[in-house]
Amino acid sequence: MSTKAYDVVIIGAGITGTMTAFQLAKYSIKTAVVEAGIDVASGSTRANSAIVHAGYDAKEGTLKALLNVKGCEMMSQITTQLGVHYKKCGSLVIGFNNRDLEELERLKTRGETNGVKGLRIIKRAELAKMEPNVSKDAKFALYAPSAGIVCPYDLAYAVAENSASNGTDYYFEYKVDKIERDGEYYVVCSEDKAIKAKYVINAAGCYADEIAKLINDDLPFEIIPRRGEYMLLDKCEGKTAKHTIFVTPNEKGKGILVSPTVDGNTIVGPNANIVDSKADTGVTEEGLDEIANGARRIVPQINLKAVITTFAGVRPTPTSGDFYIQESEKCKGFIHAAGIESPGLASAPAVSEYVIDILKKAGAKLNKKRKYIATRTKDGNCKLFYDMTEAERRKAIKEDPRYAIMVCRCETVTEGDVVNAIHRPISAHTVDMVKRRTRAGMGRCQGSHCREKVAEIIARELNIDISEVLKFSSNSKLLMGKTK
Ligand SMILES: Cc1cc2nc3c(=O)[nH]c(=O)nc-3n(C[C@H](O)[C@H](O)[C@H](O)COP(=O)(O)OP(=O)(O)OC[C@H]3O[C@@H](n4cnc5c(N)ncnc54)[C@H](O)[C@@H]3O)c2cc1C
Repeated sequence: MSTKAYDVVIIGAGITGTMTAFQLAKYSIKTAVVEAGIDVASGSTRANSAIVHAGYDAKEGTLKALLNVKGCEMMSQITTQLGVHYKKCGSLVIGFNNRDLEELERLKTRGETNGVKGLRIIKRAELAKMEPNVSKDAKFALYAPSAGIVCPYDLAYAVAENSASNGTDYYFEYKVDKIERDGEYYVVCSEDKAIKAKYVINAAGCYADEIAKLINDDLPFEIIPRRGEYMLLDKCEGKTAKHTIFVTPNEKGKGILVSPTVDGNTIVGPNANIVDSKADTGVTEEGLDEIANGARRIVPQINLKAVITTFAGVRPTPTSGDFYIQESEKCKGFIHAAGIESPGLASAPAVSEYVIDILKKAGAKLNKKRKYIATRTKDGNCKLFYDMTEAERRKAIKEDPRYAIMVCRCETVTEGDVVNAIHRPISAHTVDMVKRRTRAGMGRCQGSHCREKVAEIIARELNIDISEVLKFSSNSKLLMGKTK
């Protein structure tokens, strides 16, 4: 059997890989994305704070600083183009004493050097007006109006779906374990499968160092897994904070925040603890205590009884402290996009352009496509019932009566939404894939009422037995067998 040939293979379907695929899909070249997980956003992109940082945090002159500010500026256009929820809510770094104030002044200067616009130090009276629930001990804050919030996996789905609609191939459960040379091609293998490409982009997040080793290359730094734990509060507490609120940073980083989410919840976290395994996304009692205490420093009256779920993500922290986006010195045409820790989400649009510039310099011929689909999917039909206007809802129900059948009451998700998610370019064929695309199961009851209904719809639409439906990945069947 001949090995399918591409111009570019991207390893990893996190935000770095999918955003690069999205930008590459504008050119007439053949691209594939290979992903170890069952879905897009299986790594750090799935579980993070979801903040589009303004760019005052990264050290002056670093790649992080450059790409964060540019990525933040680009976010509005991309999210509007693809219909992704994004809100420029602004961020506040609060300070409690004069030492904090000095640090805030330093951050402001750094931000201005990095090119962040509109930064201001505000005093207690203005802060209290902007954030009525903030601690009375907070005396000042650095206000960054350009910071925003976005749903990280929805952004990754949107750019992946757009690139798939424009001809990019996606291979899931494709864990790259060997890379060989075949003339001008790299043969990218996973168990007994192989595809080949002239150019490879290593966007494997925490595992980018292991991918580098497959071509006998060594990244000039180590990737340390640093876990961050979170609590998510019910929408009834969605007005706890109007902006993303941080405390003045310390040596561990930006620290614990309290922030609204684009979907109307409040998010609290993360801590930052080194873990032994890059896959350790477990949540601990001590971790939750740590973030609860951190959150109470910001909003003393925060209602943590309203927590509906907890989760954790692992940062691919580079010991060098900066993003590393470079063509391998040993292997021409092999580009590393590694060490992409925070603000990797905010920076992703600019990271992808940076990668493409390197590809061009490496010799890739990139000519603009004549027929480019600008929307998320070919027919542009992926708006959720929840987001539709009354007129749009009536039209959707008229065209497909399944939009009148409610599946998830907490999040107003209809059968029409679920069916649409299953049949989109990157099919949602597990319960969790449907959950992340439609929000069915993300509300107060966390799926206790809709999980079975979603499983039934998946089974029906894919013509499989319900016992075959998975929750998140292989070996995660929902049903063990029949009892009656
Ligand atoms: C706790 C936490 C908070 C954060 N908060 C923010 C924030 O508020 N704002 C912000 O801008 N950034 C934030 N970040 C950083 C941001 O999440 C990351 O920078 C970004 O998600 C990195 O994306 P990526 O695509 O490079 O990596 P990932 O999302 O990890 O994607 C890499 C992909 O490669 C796949 N892969 C790995 N090995 C292989 C292999 N051998 N073969 C095939 N595929 C493979 C993985 O399965 C994974 O899907 C945070 C991160 C964490 C963990």
